[in-house]
Amino acid sequence: MISIHDAIDRIQQNLPSHTIEKISVNDALGRYLAADVLSPEASPRYTSSAMDGFGVRFTEEMNNAPTVLKIVGESAAGKRFSGEVQPGQAIRINTGAVIPASVNTVVRVEDTREEGDTVIIEKSPIKGQDIRPAGEEFPAGKVIVRKNTKLSATHLALLNATGVESINVYKPCTLSILITGSELVSLGQEVAPDQIRDSNMIMLMSAIREAGGVVLDADRIPDDPERTEQAIKNSKGDIIICTGGISVGRHDHVKTAAIKAGFEEIFWRIRQKPGKPLFFARRGEQLFFGLPGNPVSAFMCFIHYIKPMIGAVLGLPFGWPIVSARTLAPIKNCGSRPTMVRVNLDWQDPNGYSITAAEKQGSHMLTSITESNGYIILPPKAEVAAGETQTIYCYDSKREVLAVSVAE
Ligand code: AMP
Ligand code: MG
Repeated sequence: MISIHDAIDRIQQNLPSHTIEKISVNDALGRYLAADVLSPEASPRYTSSAMDGFGVRFTEEMNNAPTVLKIVGESAAGKRFSGEVQPGQAIRINTGAVIPASVNTVVRVEDTREEGDTVIIEKSPIKGQDIRPAGEEFPAGKVIVRKNTKLSATHLALLNATGVESINVYKPCTLSILITGSELVSLGQEVAPDQIRDSNMIMLMSAIREAGGVVLDADRIPDDPERTEQAIKNSKGDIIICTGGISVGRHDHVKTAAIKAGFEEIFWRIRQKPGKPLFFARRGEQLFFGLPGNPVSAFMCFIHYIKPMIGAVLGLPFGWPIVSARTLAPIKNCGSRPTMVRVNLDWQDPNGYSITAAEKQGSHMLTSITESNGYIILPPKAEVAAGETQTIYCYDSKREVLAVSVAE
């Protein structure tokens, strides 16, 4: 049996390698950039008007409004004015339209009045007003989105605006799920009194996707040594995650089957609760995790050991989203192993973040993870007093949303 610390060490020594692929910007939502993106163009690309109004060549006389100017044309968005504007002349201009070299000031529509083919400037303009110079936001060659950014709607807009068509992103890690247990049935199937519904498959499929991994395959098999070995042998992907049958029971075949299928043990069993029987092995570039069958144990093993690995493949630092918070009541670990105590972190406590331990902590009790959003790791025989600060490993980012104001 090894410590949590040693298990993390060995996992970090066996991370799958990064692979980079080039994809279209328009398919890149949620992907992680593998290199800085430099803008091929300056922004704005050309000097343009910030307002609807009239483009003029500023002269000193304009300081004494009103000024009458002759309208000699128009520069519209998408259709520039090709002539030259002389003193005493003006052109109509729209927001975003090209400013000709002969124009140096824009007068807003609101400050003018038209009469026949003339415009009367009723308010004295300031030379240079309401013009957006080319390159005002950034020059060509500037880094506009940094390596390791998770691409969102706003990034994709910027990349489209600057003409970046394809980008290099990290290829997500691929995984297969293998659920073992002769007692299991799927949702919708009839469940006999001595059977239970499989909750690990949907949990792991969803948790992998949330973590940014790709599920290649998901299968369920009974506790049968040959079938287990065969299924493991044929599993595809960077990581195989198996649940159930990894402890020391008579029907636990997963570890032996994985070794027969060609995997080499890296560790088996961690001094922790829940999740003690976790098994980790390697076959060439392929990694194997044997998780305990209890859904809570399986989830905690996934969150603490596998999720950071999936993130690392996407260029994120290996680690967990952690936050400090006060305990509202004492929390005790009476056991002899470090324990991952599931807690509910209150982000809205007016006195600062606070935590309360989930009331029921059984590793067969899924409510201990649905009614919590993180966990603390308590050493054996430890007790934390009320008001003490703890490190919380968060697993439910949805609840990080703070105040939601409701419209009247
Ligand atoms: P095992 O790790 O196979 O000894 O299983 C431990 C406990 O978890 C047993 O009570 C199993 O019935 C239960 N269990 C195993 N696999 C699953 C699963 N996929 N979904 C729900 N419970 C499971
Ligand atoms: Mg079993």
